[in-house]
Amino acid sequence: MRIKPPSKRLYHLIANLRKQSAQEDFVKIRKKFCDYMTSLNAIVLLPVCVDCYSYECHVFERPIEPPDILRYTWKGDLVWEVGLTEDEIRQIDEKNKSREDIELRCGKCGNLLEYGKDDFYVESEPLPEYFNISESTDRAPSKQLREEIIKLYGQKCYGCEKKLLKEDVTCDHIIARVHNGYTSPLNLQILCKNCNNKIKGDRKVKVVNVNLTFLFRSSPSDSYEGVIW
Ligand SMILES: [Zn+2]
Ligand SMILES: [Zn+2]
Repeated sequence: MRIKPPSKRLYHLIANLRKQSAQEDFVKIRKKFCDYMTSLNAIVLLPVCVDCYSYECHVFERPIEPPDILRYTWKGDLVWEVGLTEDEIRQIDEKNKSREDIELRCGKCGNLLEYGKDDFYVESEPLPEYFNISESTDRAPSKQLREEIIKLYGQKCYGCEKKLLKEDVTCDHIIARVHNGYTSPLNLQILCKNCNNKIKGDRKVKVVNVNLTFLFRSSPSDSYEGVIW
């Protein structure tokens, strides 16, 4: 059977939807772990089947162990692996009992992998790349991007939590542009003028790496319902 590819318009709609929920999830996780002086460097961990794993690119690398799916595993204080909470694991066990399969799919070809049976590798990809989120070197965010950030963070200062009038909202580069920070939805936050200019300024922020475990999600188009974060 020939399947008609989605129209261009529909394709854009789907891509934007995915992007939107990725950004929302990113801000959710940032709110949970980071203050306004911390930048979150989110890495997506993708299960990749043996066929898709490109040996040529990884000749000098060792395959990565599948990430720990239990709770948060802290590695030093700069890498967090965000896994499943015990509650979520219990829910998965329940689902398995009722034979609703939890799918583990290759992040590249989408083929089903059987956890514990099929060999697979884990590749990492920066979140903006994975979701095709733009990172521009423009000086200031566009009006539209600014509105998006206000929507994501709310109209209050992420630093002192003061509610803000529209004219007092500033859209701050978390990693300042002088330190090569991008004008990207993932590198912008809402601050009041005082927190932005007087307190933060161009001071260097702490960068925290977080690995996002995608093991139990199928391909991103239909699985972005947030079991994991
Ligand atoms: Zn594959
Ligand atoms: Zn403030």
